[in-house]
Amino acid sequence: MRSVIVYVEQEQGKTRRIGAEMCSKGAELASALGGASTAVVLGKGASAAAQAIKETPIDAIVVGEDVPVDAFLIDPAVDALESLAREAGPSLLLLPASNAGKDIAARVAVRLNAGIITEATDITIAGGSVVVQSPKFGGTVVSTIGFKNSEFGVVVCRPNSFAARKQAGKGETKSVAPASGKTYAAQIVEAVAQEAGKLGVDEASVVVSGGRGLGGPEHFDIIEQLAAAFGGAVGASRAVVDAGWISHGHQVGQTGKTVSPQLYIAVGISGAIQHKVGMRSSGLIVAINKDPNAPIFEFCDFGVVGDLFQIVPALTALVKERKGGA
Ligand SMILES: Cc1cc2nc3c(=O)[nH]c(=O)nc-3n(C[C@H](O)[C@H](O)[C@H](O)COP(=O)(O)OP(=O)(O)OC[C@H]3O[C@@H](n4cnc5c(N)ncnc54)[C@H](O)[C@@H]3O)c2cc1C
Repeated sequence: MRSVIVYVEQEQGKTRRIGAEMCSKGAELASALGGASTAVVLGKGASAAAQAIKETPIDAIVVGEDVPVDAFLIDPAVDALESLAREAGPSLLLLPASNAGKDIAARVAVRLNAGIITEATDITIAGGSVVVQSPKFGGTVVSTIGFKNSEFGVVVCRPNSFAARKQAGKGETKSVAPASGKTYAAQIVEAVAQEAGKLGVDEASVVVSGGRGLGGPEHFDIIEQLAAAFGGAVGASRAVVDAGWISHGHQVGQTGKTVSPQLYIAVGISGAIQHKVGMRSSGLIVAINKDPNAPIFEFCDFGVVGDLFQIVPALTALVKERKGGA
C-alpha cells in the first residue's frame, strides 16, 4: 500500500471533526508509505465541505458534488470509493466509525477483496506495513492488527483517536462524477435532522453523562448545562434511557454508543460493566456519585463523592467563570 484515501462525511457543506482527524492521520501515513493522501467528499455541499478539509495536511481532495449520496443509501459512496481506490492502486482506505461509515467500509472491502479493521484508535507504519490498534472485548484488551493483503486495506476509525492538525495551502481539488448508467435499489425518502446543532456523544471531545442518580427526567437540565459549559455532548446510562428520560441516541455502553472523548464526566452513574465498556477508553474519566463504594470509582481518574445536585451546578458555574462566560 502506498496511497491513503480518506472518506470524509459531510452534511449540508459541514464536516465533522473526525474528518479533519482522519485527514491529518491519512497525510502522516501516506508520507510514511511514500505515497499521496487524498480526501473524498461526496454529495450536495461537498464543495463547501472541502474548504474545511483544505485546512488539513491532506495532499488532494476529490469532490463529488453530484454523487447522489443524499438521495440513495450507501451504494453511490461505495461505487465512488471503489473506483477511486482502483485508480489510485494499492491503497489504505480510512472511514469514520459512523453508521454509514461502517456500512460503506464493509462493502468497499468486499469489492476490493481487502482486509478490514474496525474501531481503530491508532494507526502507524512499521517496516513499511500498516499496524492498527483496536480495542476488543469492551476495551479489556487492545489488539495490534495488520493486513495480509498488501494491495488494499480498509480501516474504520473511532472519533477522537487522532489529533486534527491544521495546515493551510495544500489540498489540490479534483472532481469525481457519479457512476454512469447506475440504478440503485434503495432510496432515502426522508431525512430528519436530530436536534439541530447538538453534538453527538460519539464525536464530542467532552461528554457529560447522567444516570439514575438524577432522580427524574426534569433534572437532566443540570447535565445539559454542564455539557454546554464545556461545549460538549450529553450522554446517559441505559437505566435512564429505558426509563424514557432521554432518547437512545444519548446512551453510552454495550447496547448504546462507544465513546472516547478527551473528558468523560459520569454523574449519578454507578459504573456497571455494560456502561464501562462504552466509555473506558475516554482520555480522562471523572465520576460524581454519593456512594463511595460505587463501582465507577474503581476505574475513574478523579472521583468526587457527594450529592450531584450540589456539585454539578457549582462545577458548571466554575467552568463558565473560567471560560469568561459567567
Ligand atoms: C445486556 C445488557 C446491556 C446493557 N447495556 C447498557 C448500556 O449500553 N449502557 C448502560 O449504561 N447500561 C447498560 N446496561 C444496564 C447496566 O447493567 C446498569 O443497569 C445501568 O448502567 C445502571 O444505570 P445507572 O448507573 O444510571 O443506575 P444505577 O445503577 O441505579 O446507579 C445510580 C447511581 O447514582 C448514584 N446517586 C444516586 N443519587 C445521587 C445523588 N444525589 N448524587 C450523586 N450520586 C447519586 C447512586 O449512588 C448510584 O451509584 C445493560 C444491561 C444489560 C443486562
